[in-house]
Amino acid sequence: MKAYDYLIVGAGLYGATVAYRLREAGRRVLVVERRPHVGGNLYCEDEDGVVVHRYGAHIFHTSNRAVWDFVNRFVEFRPFVNSPIANYHGRLFNLPFNMNTFHAMWGVTTPDEARERIESQRRASGIDVPRNLEEQAISLVGRDIYEVLVKGYTEKQWGRKCTELPSSIIRRLPVRYTFDNNYFNDTYQGIPVGGYNLLIERLLEGVEVRLGCDFFDHRDELMGLAGKVVYTGEIDRWFDYCYGELEYRSLRFETERLPKENYQGVAVMNFTDAETPYTRIIEHKHFSGVQTPHTVITREYPCEWRKGAEPYYPIGDERNVALYERYRALATALPDVIFGGRLAEYRYYDMHQVVEAALRLEI
Ligand SMILES: Cc1cc2nc3c(=O)[nH]c(=O)nc-3n(C[C@H](O)[C@H](O)[C@H](O)COP(=O)(O)OP(=O)(O)OC[C@H]3O[C@@H](n4cnc5c(N)ncnc54)[C@H](O)[C@@H]3O)c2cc1C
Repeated sequence: MKAYDYLIVGAGLYGATVAYRLREAGRRVLVVERRPHVGGNLYCEDEDGVVVHRYGAHIFHTSNRAVWDFVNRFVEFRPFVNSPIANYHGRLFNLPFNMNTFHAMWGVTTPDEARERIESQRRASGIDVPRNLEEQAISLVGRDIYEVLVKGYTEKQWGRKCTELPSSIIRRLPVRYTFDNNYFNDTYQGIPVGGYNLLIERLLEGVEVRLGCDFFDHRDELMGLAGKVVYTGEIDRWFDYCYGELEYRSLRFETERLPKENYQGVAVMNFTDAETPYTRIIEHKHFSGVQTPHTVITREYPCEWRKGAEPYYPIGDERNVALYERYRALATALPDVIFGGRLAEYRYYDMHQVVEAALRLEI
């Protein structure tokens, strides 16, 4: 008789949601987490009333009613509409691309005029079959939007020229011919009141969690404790990188507390020029509308990922996807180990997709 029915490696949103379901089903669960806190990348800290998203801005959005109802059982969500601003050398544009953006770009005032601008630039590009991301973007939205709002940001984000990036990274660039600055198309959108920690803590209520515990430092001992494992870490690490390493893009966060009430007037400002070294500034207080005499901002710098650094974004190029498929084949041969979440499935997952996957899991 083992001490636990399930060992869950990783206390992120996926691990916590599965832990909740297992506990509800009467299973004995142990969670181990290598970081000193639960929550994975959703983790927040309170800076004298301002909730700071430590690993980048997180906005919950979904059109799945079951997912929305599920998370609302644990925390109250404050309605929040993500309306980021793009800053290109001090010129400001609304995102996603919509009539406000086109008006700021060209002075056009009607959808017909905007459509004609974009169409004429697409025609002028003469691109039939895009060979790279640059050509793909120009063939979708024309040269002006590409140069001002896509090129610099994308090159900083991926650390490579758009001409060297595969066209497949951008399948579509949503364009709206309405004055609608709501970034997401989803039915439900919000931020938990007080941040995400409460959501994770409530999911993990009654579950034993060991923090600061890297599974691989205690692999044999931990494997002996439970009949089944839910693994949410990097899939290649589980197999000791036997086929080679999967690659990621990483991020560096620079957080600053400022003695002023309002720094940029919006939660998310994207810097779309190539010269500004960061991609975004997050001003956290605008997620909650809290009134404080101080503010906290975070600059996000995309950077190369090296083994040991935090892996944020999987690289969906041919090499990595093929490599992941090889690891996945090994994983499916292990019936007592469930590989789930963004690292074990090597996929960019939004939060609602993680919850959806965890709710779908047969236990
Ligand atoms: C910058 C950024 C911004 C984002 N913004 C949004 C957004 O606005 N909206 C949205 O819906 N989604 C957003 N996301 C995605 C969101 O973060 C993910 O959907 C979610 O965090 C995935 O949860 P997870 O449990 O799969 O992974 P994680 O949060 O990474 O959790 C995995 C956990 O496993 C732990 N772990 C790994 N290996 C081991 C080991 N060997 N031993 C012990 N513990 C281990 C890790 O420390 C981590 O805590 C964003 C992601 C990033 C990077």
